[in-house]
Amino acid sequence: MESVKHFITDMDGVLVKGMQMIPGAGRFISRLQEQGREYLVLTNNSLYAPRDLAHRLHTVGKPNPLMMRSALNYLDVHSEDTVMVGDRMETDIVAGVESGMRTILVLSGVTRREDIDRFPYRPSWVLDSVAEIEL
Ligand SMILES: [Mg+2]
Repeated sequence: MESVKHFITDMDGVLVKGMQMIPGAGRFISRLQEQGREYLVLTNNSLYAPRDLAHRLHTVGKPNPLMMRSALNYLDVHSEDTVMVGDRMETDIVAGVESGMRTILVLSGVTRREDIDRFPYRPSWVLDSVAEIEL
């Protein structure tokens, strides 16, 4: 994961679940901020948008390649330096793959490890949660 510089991350199932922060998610965001990395959190649920997220993009709908392109343009970063972090194979991961990004599937949301084989594409990495991302 060394060549990953920037992060686009889904919120629900990745940083929060219900009204709870996922353990380690606060530290993950803090590390991104400390290291001056560009990042963006995608959500279609503004209820969960914490004030301390410096960069936010509120959207209606699920991540798709056009949204990913907009996110990369917004951050002014390149797809090859950026990873998409999400908990859904059929939205987050496919959007990242189709946009030329590497992808991290976290198992803290809706997807179980055994579900991955049902899809014709693979995430670059599969982690239990964002707490496992080394920064
Ligand atoms: Mg999600």
